[in-house]
Amino acid sequence: MEEVTFTTDRRTTQHTPLYYGTSLSPPNVSYHYNPEVTRYHYGPHHPMKPFRLLLTDHLVISYKLYEQMDLYTPRRATKDELLQFHSEDYVNFLESVTPQATGKLAEKTLAQFNIGEDCPVFDGMYDYSAIYAGASLDATRKLISGQSDIAINWSGGLHHAKKFEPSGFCYVNDIVLSIMNLLRVHPRVMYIDIDLHHGDGVQEAFYTSDRVMTVSFHKYNGEFFPGTGAMDERGIGRGKNYAINVPLKDGIDDDSYIRLFKSIMEPLITKFQPTAIVQQCGADSLGFDRLGCFNLNIRAHGECVKFIKSFGLPLLVLGGGGYTPRNVSRLWCYETSILNDVSLDDKIPNYLPTYDWFAPDYSLHPQLDGRIDNKNSKKYIECVKQEVLEQLRFLNHAPSVQMSDIPPDLTGLTEEEEDAIRDLNEEQETDREMRNVKDEARVGEMVAT
Ligand SMILES: [Zn+2]
Repeated sequence: MEEVTFTTDRRTTQHTPLYYGTSLSPPNVSYHYNPEVTRYHYGPHHPMKPFRLLLTDHLVISYKLYEQMDLYTPRRATKDELLQFHSEDYVNFLESVTPQATGKLAEKTLAQFNIGEDCPVFDGMYDYSAIYAGASLDATRKLISGQSDIAINWSGGLHHAKKFEPSGFCYVNDIVLSIMNLLRVHPRVMYIDIDLHHGDGVQEAFYTSDRVMTVSFHKYNGEFFPGTGAMDERGIGRGKNYAINVPLKDGIDDDSYIRLFKSIMEPLITKFQPTAIVQQCGADSLGFDRLGCFNLNIRAHGECVKFIKSFGLPLLVLGGGGYTPRNVSRLWCYETSILNDVSLDDKIPNYLPTYDWFAPDYSLHPQLDGRIDNKNSKKYIECVKQEVLEQLRFLNHAPSVQMSDIPPDLTGLTEEEEDAIRDLNEEQETDREMRNVKDEARVGEMVAT
């Protein structure tokens, strides 16, 4: 009897569609994923787990979302491609250093390349970086050729990496490389970052450019990593007012986040008129993230992606932070469905090889809010919004582009611009020293989960 019931249930499950389409003419979506990226390991106690990408891919496959998209297994980025943004010294270091050799390196060299707890030297880190950067570049090529309207790379979005050094678990900045690629044909690119942390590496790279508007929503209190992202960081020179920062406090909830996001993004997009958008979808802004402190549910995070998609511009969608792998993968699978205009059954398909990871609810939408008190008063949020809208008033029109500026020369800075960027870095240097002390304290926490 039991067996019959089981058979019936299995049949019923087989006949239940896993998703429902919502649009008559869905966009051309491409999914760029090299499974090799999950083979690398930052170290047993490190919170960044490339394994979360395997979980994401399993969910995407289980929900049969591959039927909806063009699938690509991209090649690695070449050294020349990495050198488009990163310095030769740094790329050579990444390429040659091994965990075995690290002990023999001078303290000075390790400090010069910011090697430590957050950014350890691990086996294959150059290959790992070239794989995720290669996937982002592949995605931009499909957008540029018009083969894709939306291109997804969940292994990308490593927004902290700097020209000369790694930072915050990020070695190569695939976002900067992708935007530089898009700028070859797109007059204006908008970068939107909804990771918990400030998108400092991308902001810095385009700080003097009016062709890239960077917009970052993040936790900010002056100390929280990476220490930057205050409202008064607005860009310099021609880039003045083209960097937008939305600093938030602990515990922001779905409603306030979505309302603030939409009320800021709508006028920004209308005014700047980007011809392409890059959205970084860091999952550490979800509630219950191992390193997080916001209260967002998966649907709310996804709503921000849905809203940006609704503008119908060429869209590069990237991953980023996210340290509770089961929720990272739920989020990115859900966002893949949004980008494909289909809605998924809440129940995770039970033939998923990694099904056990989604216990005890086996649902795509566990409740993730309510762990942390919301420290963002209505008044505070209104204040932030008003200040951003005020900054927007300084932008009279979308800047036109002289085609001779393509691609923009990111190295030809004036002395004043060099100084301003040096100041920003020095502030971060002090933060880094303070952080090293905190890192010691965090070792215990990393072992915990
Ligand atoms: Zn983050």
